[in-house]
Order: sequence, then structure tokens, then C-alpha cells
Amino acid sequence: MKNEMWVEFDAKSVNEGFARVTVAAFLTQLDPTLDEISDVKTAVSEAVTNAIIHGYEKEEGKVRLSCALDGDTAVITVEDQGTGMEDVRKAMEPFYTTKPELERSGMGFSFMEAFMDEIQVESEIGIGTRVTLKKKIGAKEDGNWDGCGDSSY
Ligand code: ATP
Ligand code: MG
Repeated sequence: MKNEMWVEFDAKSVNEGFARVTVAAFLTQLDPTLDEISDVKTAVSEAVTNAIIHGYEKEEGKVRLSCALDGDTAVITVEDQGTGMEDVRKAMEPFYTTKPELERSGMGFSFMEAFMDEIQVESEIGIGTRVTLKKKIGAKEDGNWDGCGDSSY
């Protein structure tokens, strides 16, 4: 089955929790494991945080978040119309950050890559950035909640 949702919200840090919980709630229809939910929440948080602190810096703006389900695959996009990046490849290298003064570690994209099956980043200076994250859900290995046993929280 195909099913899609999108939301748009102000680029404020206070909305990061809203964004990751929204995606997690939408994904429950695929009967994900706790590990899968946690992976997706981490990746969405990283992408949304980037849109807010790097995309818009201190300016106001909107972040658009979408999640499209196609069978057991979730495709999530996080978009901003902020500064954009000159060199996406470089930005995605581990430990690369343009904000070391904010104690950023430069690991956001690495986490997104580690926790999702696929990541695609499109960006243009002055236009904005779109991050597309894909993950197959419901593989049903360990850790899914069945009401008993020692589920991993
Ligand atoms: P961390 O995520 O570990 O706190 P970070 O945000 O600097 O640190 P990444 O998330 O890997 O690290 O991003 C690397 C760099 O890519 C950022 O420092 C920033 O320069 C650039 N970047 C990432 N997302 C965006 C965006 N949406 N708009 C503009 N620049 C971005
Ligand atoms: Mg980051």
C-alpha cells in the first residue's frame, strides 16, 4: 500500500521533538521494531536540526517534512529553503562541521547514513537543501514489542 503525509513547521529547535515523534507515529502502521523506530527518529532529528541551525542559522523559515510509505519502505524528506551547501560531498564527511564553536561534532550525516538504508542530499546555495532518507521497515528481527520478554527500550 502507498500512503504519504507531510507537515511544515517553523525552523525552531523546540519543534525537533515534534518532527521525530510525528514520523514515528506515522510509521507505526508498518509494525516497526523498537530499534527501527529509534533509528528513524535519530536520523530525522539530525536532518531537522541541520535544517534549523545550518539551513536557516538565526533567520526565520519553514522546514518541510514528508514521509511516503511504499509497501514496507519509508521514504522521508526534510527540506529547507535556507543557505544551501556548496560541497555536499565534503559536508557529509565524518567530523566535518562549519560550526565547531557550537560544539558540533560533524557526525550528523554519518548517523543518518548509519541508521538508514539510503541517504540522498541535494543542495544549492541560496535555494536550500533536501535530504531524502530511505529505510525498509518491519524486517522483524530482534527487539520488536510482543508484550513479553526483554524488549530493548
Ligand atoms: P553534528 O550534526 O554532529 O552536531 P554538524 O551539524 O556540523 O554537527 P553534520 O550534520 O554532519 O554535522 O553536517 C555537516 C555540515 O554540513 C554542517 O556543519 C553544515 O556546514 C552543513 N549542513 C548540513 N545540513 C545543512 C543544511 N540543511 N543547510 C546548510 N548546511 C548544512
Ligand atoms: Mg548536524
